[in-house]
Amino acid sequence: MTDGAQAYLDNNATTAMSPGAYERMAELMRGPPGNAAALHRLGAASRDAVEEARARFVRRLGGAAQVVFTSGATEANALCLLGALRHSENRCERLVVSELEHGSVYDFAELALEWRVAVCRARPDGTPDLDHLQDLLAGQRSLVSMMHVNNETGVIFPVAEIAAITHRHGGLLHVDAAQSVGKMPLGEVVAHADAQTLSAHKFHGPLGVGAIALLNPDFRLAPVLPGGGQEGGIRSGTVNVPAIAAAAVALDEAAATPLPGPALRDRLEAFLMKHVPHCLVAGGSAPRLWTTSYVCFPGLLQEDLIEALSCRGVHVGTGAACTSALHESRVLRSMGMAPLYNQGGIRISFALRTPAAALDRFIEAFPEAYSAAMEKSPYQ
Ligand code: PMP
Repeated sequence: MTDGAQAYLDNNATTAMSPGAYERMAELMRGPPGNAAALHRLGAASRDAVEEARARFVRRLGGAAQVVFTSGATEANALCLLGALRHSENRCERLVVSELEHGSVYDFAELALEWRVAVCRARPDGTPDLDHLQDLLAGQRSLVSMMHVNNETGVIFPVAEIAAITHRHGGLLHVDAAQSVGKMPLGEVVAHADAQTLSAHKFHGPLGVGAIALLNPDFRLAPVLPGGGQEGGIRSGTVNVPAIAAAAVALDEAAATPLPGPALRDRLEAFLMKHVPHCLVAGGSAPRLWTTSYVCFPGLLQEDLIEALSCRGVHVGTGAACTSALHESRVLRSMGMAPLYNQGGIRISFALRTPAAALDRFIEAFPEAYSAAMEKSPYQ
């Protein structure tokens, strides 16, 4: 998106709401109130809106056994992992996550104190080390949580292979697909994972709504929060009817939008490597989604480059929006990225309809912004 001279290139952090999603949300917010759990007719109308949205999610997710709406991917991840570990029928003795996971999964491991937790190593290319996964799974039934596409690097994980290893050892697989939904075909996840996480604001839906899709009907979730027993008793709390309905519109719209391919990302990287030949693209040798480019510039600080670009109307991100106070990416560190490079990493991320003009703007602003950031470098 360019707005006047603005170029928004931080779409892995959040995307603009689509006009269709916005209209649906506004329509329901303007309408009469009605708690979807209420018995009167206005409650029933809200319930219908939620169930219609749920049916659309189920259809897009290959006929998922159950879809549970949440407040986003953070909650979906926590609820799915804790709920699955707590449900005795899953018989999971421990949790296995990769070093590359989003904080909502990686740091969740610290909460899962009653269960043993193992962390699967990352490979330097930004994929999980599947030989290590194999070793970790031997002899125990585990719940494995690994993402589909990494939010920092855009690296695509081999979900079918991860599922095969997990299932061979009798385990269950949860896939955080927050960064892939609406941006690539989900067939591999839907066919092989037992559960998956979605977040609407990553695919042009509203902020603050997400979902867990139970793809395997034998994957069971125990409730985590006590309360009104909404969402099939799994997620208590009044459901956000307008946001859920809008999310379903955004999901359908994304599925109907042709995928752009890597042309913008490749042009960006070719430009950067010419301008700063010693820069590094994180995960550059692994299969990566067209959405993302994480480029490290040794000798400068990421916050200086982001600010220098932003004041020139170009908005890019760091690895994880939620942890941008940290100046080194944990994910890149786990891939073996040296601190000098890691501290100078920025993430440029594209949306389905990012215009080429946004990249033109970046290319125009970058040389000056780079010099400005280098002038502030603590290493000069
Ligand atoms: N998982 C991944 C892979 C993400 O990229 C994000 C968003 N940064 C989340 C989880 C958290 O999503 P939400 O903002 O919906 O809580």
